[in-house]
Amino acid sequence: MRFADLVEVYDRIEATTKRLEMTELLVGLVRATPKEDLARVVYLTQGRIHPDYEGIELGLAEKMVTRVLAHATGLEEARIQRMWKEKGDVGLVAEEAIATRRQKSLESTPLTVAKVYENLDAIARESGEGSQERKIRLLSDLLGHASPREARYIVRMVVGKMRLGVADMTIIDALASTFATKADRDRVERAYNVCSDLGEVARVVAAKGLKGLDEIHLKLFRPIRAMLAERLETLEAILERMDKAALEYKYDGLRVQAHVSPEKIQLFSRHLENITGQFPEIVEGLKTAVRDREAILEGEAVPVDANTGEFLPFQEVSRRRGRKTDVERMAKEFPVTLFAFDCLLRNGEDLTPRAYSDRRKNLESMMKAAEGIRLSKVHVTSDVKEAEAFFDEALQAGCEGLMAKALDSRYEAGARGFQWIKFKKEYSAELNDTIDLVIVGAFAGRGKRAGSYGALLMAAYDEKADVFRTTCKLGTGFDDETLRTLPERLKSRRRDRRPPRVDSKLEADVWFDPEAVLEVRGAELTISPVHTAAWDAIRPGAGLAIRFPRFTGRWRDDKGPEDATTVHELLEMYRGQLKQTKKPVPRSA
Ligand code: ATP
Repeated sequence: MRFADLVEVYDRIEATTKRLEMTELLVGLVRATPKEDLARVVYLTQGRIHPDYEGIELGLAEKMVTRVLAHATGLEEARIQRMWKEKGDVGLVAEEAIATRRQKSLESTPLTVAKVYENLDAIARESGEGSQERKIRLLSDLLGHASPREARYIVRMVVGKMRLGVADMTIIDALASTFATKADRDRVERAYNVCSDLGEVARVVAAKGLKGLDEIHLKLFRPIRAMLAERLETLEAILERMDKAALEYKYDGLRVQAHVSPEKIQLFSRHLENITGQFPEIVEGLKTAVRDREAILEGEAVPVDANTGEFLPFQEVSRRRGRKTDVERMAKEFPVTLFAFDCLLRNGEDLTPRAYSDRRKNLESMMKAAEGIRLSKVHVTSDVKEAEAFFDEALQAGCEGLMAKALDSRYEAGARGFQWIKFKKEYSAELNDTIDLVIVGAFAGRGKRAGSYGALLMAAYDEKADVFRTTCKLGTGFDDETLRTLPERLKSRRRDRRPPRVDSKLEADVWFDPEAVLEVRGAELTISPVHTAAWDAIRPGAGLAIRFPRFTGRWRDDKGPEDATTVHELLEMYRGQLKQTKKPVPRSA
């Protein structure tokens, strides 16, 4: 197929504003493409040359491309740079630059789709010493044979900005209407959801038709598109729908799909990027945790505070990119724990058609204890009260809420449905202001904090009862010097037993007379069965806790403990915030 024919369709796609017209243009394109070129055409139209998960990217810097353009056209680099500034799109610059040159020399062999694809592939695969020069040569070669229009699209592909706006689902529509009937569209989509590779789907459907697609199965080291959840507002509604459900803690982190074999482990993100290099501790943990030869697991990766054992907001590890040494340092400082919640493949067998309860049994029997790898916590019930208690427990553990799963549901790749229903905390409110809390206890530090305190137990003042009631463990926001001197600084207030004015369900390693006040910033207030502030006030058997507390660095030496934030104020904040965010007030309030 001539590349010029493809470019002509791209031009028309770019000009249209109607989704339907775009689909028609794509259908025309798919029909006109010879079978052997179809996969290439699909990749190029998506603006890539391989499926995402392979991580083979073109992504040349635009600056470098302008240099190549100068070299390929003989135009001055400064002139190219000026054009780039004016147009802001190197594709358009390429088009104009080649047009200028073309007036001088006219003869050239027409480019084919295969030739363009091969050169781009070669550019993407070049790495190591001297690779830049080789990339430049390959691109120059292509541009040397390109028409101005062709150059526009080649350059856009090379810099990773195709801008055609063709969604994967539109390509699926086009493939379905060419090789099947509309009614069979689902089979095309299913194949894509299982293999995450539209080029592969195109190749198979063109060569073998729909039957061929049904032979696309889950495969190790080729990620499957994630199953997604619907949302419902109450646990009653969820249990009404599912009758009996498996409730799992809903961890607040990053979804990870792990592919495991004795030789190799690969991790993929929710968007199917290969993120293996970012989480060395998960790879290490899985080596021990998975008993079986082969497995595909899903789980949520959550950073854990090494001192308090509590979860940290995911931003703490954000995206671990950059150099290997930096990643390793971060993996030590903020290690993540992977909470495995599903098992999709076991020793070559695709488990996705099996029921949730069966997959869960497989998951439990194939995993053994290992550092940094755990199973998601689960509780099967049809009882609303039990579900509520489990929800409280999840919040207390630092989770966002619960994920309810239908016991008989299969794993539906890429689908969002009521087989999984998420239920997030409704009994929580955002905290905008800092609060002042009193130190009432401490927990011994480990690792880097050995000899000092890993976390402090913090309390709010209950003026009615004249006692201090706990509201969080505080382990974040301390600099090294403060940490080192904490025991010395608090020495005079230290007690062996819990002071009578301290109300706590937690057993601290060290207790303090409630005197020192710290300024703390928290993310939100949440219901907690462990902390005693505002006990029974919002829900029976629960108090109020501060989620993700952080020391601001300010010791409120100007405040006595009775000047600290009161339980009453916390309660007001909680209720005020609930009203503002229009969250439902808990039934038992
Ligand atoms: P969605 O993924 O549904 O588009 P989202 O990205 O906003 O929405 P959430 O609303 O937080 O995510 O809920 C879904 C996500 O919850 C899952 O994709 C997964 O990453 C995470 N999760 C945490 N714990 C579990 C669990 N036990 N089972 C399934 N998913 C879980």
